[in-house]
Amino acid sequence: NDVEKNYDVIVVGSGAGAMTAALFAADQGNSVLIVEKTDKYGGTSAISGGGIWIPNNDEFRALGGKDSYEAALTYIKAASQGSVDETRIRAYLDNAPKMLRELQANSRVKFAVADKYPDYYQHLEGSLPGGRSMDPELYDTTGLGDEMDNQQPAAGNALLMGKMSWTARQAHKAVSKERGWMLMIIGLMLRYKLDFKQRKKGRRDRRAGLGASLVASLRHSLCDRNIPLWRGTEFTDFVINNDKVTGIKVLRDGQELTLNARYGVIMGSGGFEQNQALREKYLPAPSQQSWSATPKGGNTGAALEAGQKLGAATDLLDWCWWTPTLNVPKERNARGLFAERAFPGAIVVDGAGQRFFNEAAPYLEFGDAMYRNHQKMGNSIPAWVVFDGHFRHEYAMGPLMPGKIMPDSRAPKAWLGSVYFKADSLAELAKLVNIDADGLAQTVQKMNHYAATGVDEDFDRGGNVFDRYYGDTKVKPNPCLAPLTKGPYYALKIHPGDIGTKGGLLTNEYAQVVRPSGEPIAGLYAIGNSSSSVMGTSYPGAGATIGPAMTFGYVAANHITANR
Ligand code: FAD
Repeated sequence: NDVEKNYDVIVVGSGAGAMTAALFAADQGNSVLIVEKTDKYGGTSAISGGGIWIPNNDEFRALGGKDSYEAALTYIKAASQGSVDETRIRAYLDNAPKMLRELQANSRVKFAVADKYPDYYQHLEGSLPGGRSMDPELYDTTGLGDEMDNQQPAAGNALLMGKMSWTARQAHKAVSKERGWMLMIIGLMLRYKLDFKQRKKGRRDRRAGLGASLVASLRHSLCDRNIPLWRGTEFTDFVINNDKVTGIKVLRDGQELTLNARYGVIMGSGGFEQNQALREKYLPAPSQQSWSATPKGGNTGAALEAGQKLGAATDLLDWCWWTPTLNVPKERNARGLFAERAFPGAIVVDGAGQRFFNEAAPYLEFGDAMYRNHQKMGNSIPAWVVFDGHFRHEYAMGPLMPGKIMPDSRAPKAWLGSVYFKADSLAELAKLVNIDADGLAQTVQKMNHYAATGVDEDFDRGGNVFDRYYGDTKVKPNPCLAPLTKGPYYALKIHPGDIGTKGGLLTNEYAQVVRPSGEPIAGLYAIGNSSSSVMGTSYPGAGATIGPAMTFGYVAANHITANR
């Protein structure tokens, strides 16, 4: 019927960018429909850290922090090295703080400034040691009721002990063992355990954290407005009239439907990381879907392929938001190793037993370095994280909680020989996982020397405030360096995985999809990983994927409304 098939704006996908676009479009008086292919809303955004990187935001200024449009522009330009048009960067800087201000004023979404989370490239002009990354506050999901069951569930590794929600600020406090961290953990545990009403219902924490908080608070805000969200509805193609996108075709309950969008279609349907054929076509080899940390079955490149058919320009298709990942039996998605590489006493080596990069470097650069070293040496896919018995006792690594909480005897048996490998000596470990034993011995000898002097003469690990963010404040002289001296020794296999692809449909400063000539395709917008990233080949800070997705969702809604 007409009511169901005609809308002013249709948004495809239900990640944070898509929901933000829908929210603003609706508040500007448009009738809006969201379609989501899977039976859960939220996409990768829901299982993410939920951080958004918003330069020059009001919250940081309110804390007395100093940032400016010019400093952020200088920084992004230096980071992206000409791989993206400056007009789009400026559109981002103009709109990101406004989007956040308006969203927080008019919805249930609440962020706090992560004032200690440094920008990723501390050596570049315009970087800040904190204040641009925003961290979602914990969100009480009671009001969402049963709709919370339809949200893409948070991965176990986003939760404290696989159960309890926390913020990125709290997780950082615990990881770096800042003063008061133990008390904080006890507080979180008590709050969870003493919530008897919720415990009767099951394991899920009443309060959502990280990406689950962001997506739940957005979903709740959409429910407040009665904006329809059709799950299990797959976009298959555009409807075109006189060169203008006027609607979409979808598959719903096995039926093809045509849905009309009077003023615009916004593609927020993610990238193509869950499509092995497209990975092989565009990404550097080798590349496996199973290395991706994003939800299975979701982002298979629908926006890209339909856009290409229309003659849209594309960019950055050979890039992912790289992250070294490891696969754990029975876990739904690969796990990103975002932080643990930086903990003191863990090193990453190739098959020759050599380090090839600063382990504490940002994850995009680390993944990229795995490919570059592999192209040169042919031996860093997989690469190996190696650490000793002291490290195992003290720190978490992937799914292994610190040995003092989860000794090997209490770790699942299936993990030994699949997730982690263990031997009494370094030489035996090298043999077990097929790393060159002499190379590994020399690397460890060098690292032990660097740990004593505090200076990593090869890669300057721990040499800036970003590296040290995940260091152990109690380890001196360098919180990211500790010797490997105490058996047994351990190794974990890692691959250059991803948290989404970075390339996609090329857009202009209004989030309109453009043709190679630069001319916009009327009625068509793309945001998030459906579009090629405004950050080009860089990852300037925590939240540099969802921040732009939400900001260009806001920009697209504004542009549609202004031109309707
Ligand atoms: P998604 O959030 O994946 O949403 C796309 C949606 O579109 C999905 O629900 C999908 O099912 C749906 N869809 C796909 N095809 C169709 C179709 N044909 N029809 C209808 N629907 C379709 N980034 C940050 O900025 N900050 C962080 O803190 C952060 N932490 C992360 C932590 C982890 C563990 C991971 C895995 C990622 C993290 N990221 C983070 C990356 C970030 O989550 C993603 O890059 C981002 O969420 C992508 O947003 P999106 O809207 O493009 O896609």
